[in-house]
Amino acid sequence: MLLVNAKAGPSSVHRTGLIAQEFIPKGTKVWRFMPGFDVLIPETELKGLSAESRTQVIYYAYFHLATRTFVLSSDDDRFTNHSNNPNTRPAGDCTVAVRDIHPGEDITNDYGELASLNFSQSNNHSVYMGGCDLGSGLFAGRDFRQGEMLFRFGGAIICNAESIAQGDGANNHLQIGPTTYLAVEPPGVFTNHSCDPNVGIRYDVQVYALRDIRLGEEVRFDYSTTTSERRWTMHCRCGSPSCRGIIGDFHDLPEKLQQHYLALGIVQAFIVQEAELAGVSRPSVLSTSSGVTRSMNNNETAARK
Ligand SMILES: [Zn+2]
Repeated sequence: MLLVNAKAGPSSVHRTGLIAQEFIPKGTKVWRFMPGFDVLIPETELKGLSAESRTQVIYYAYFHLATRTFVLSSDDDRFTNHSNNPNTRPAGDCTVAVRDIHPGEDITNDYGELASLNFSQSNNHSVYMGGCDLGSGLFAGRDFRQGEMLFRFGGAIICNAESIAQGDGANNHLQIGPTTYLAVEPPGVFTNHSCDPNVGIRYDVQVYALRDIRLGEEVRFDYSTTTSERRWTMHCRCGSPSCRGIIGDFHDLPEKLQQHYLALGIVQAFIVQEAELAGVSRPSVLSTSSGVTRSMNNNETAARK
């Protein structure tokens, strides 16, 4: 749903576009996914549509790869044109103006980036909560290929003091900055730790497959890739041959493992910065990521020093 005054009109980019009708300052939220107003069409349902309808969907909707769903805006947002140098970018479940947009100007997206939008239905079917040897865990709702995004962590951003004040509830907080956390909501909150993880977090909150993952397989990441707070440890029961026994901050990891995770791009951005300051080199830069989770699941024994 558009959050600014804009409507379809002649475009300088491609025939018809979404044209700003007011001055939109940099930082303004331009669009937000609105369940019920914006329409989600699973890829599987596309087959049931007529050829004409299918053409309309493919033309006007964008494809959300992680959920294999077409997202169709019900307002003039669907006329938004693509640009390699867009003036809006995705941020959470919104798009935000990344520079001032003037009346009469095209509002543009990079269609490729829209795949990272975190609209609330995005978790449907991609992962689910279920029972495991640790109590509860998060499982793949379908097959995923290595490198594919499974889901994003969502939740309120809170500060260090708020996190500590929640006691055991802090175990559900994902560290996303030196003093900031995400109070993770279901289903992501059920993600367990493993010393031999099959998923990793990029861009602070996006969960990617580190290897091919089959439908029904539990997904676990290494909590140390998201933790740097100098007070948290956890007794690990992941059962992997490479289990470290006690899990702590990223900086407590053997340097070789730090470099491995840095090379995979699955270390929170603020920890990457800390590691660079500490002189830990990144063998190859795949991505500067961030995204952290501490002890999301109370099934394991966590303690703050
Ligand atoms: Zn372990």
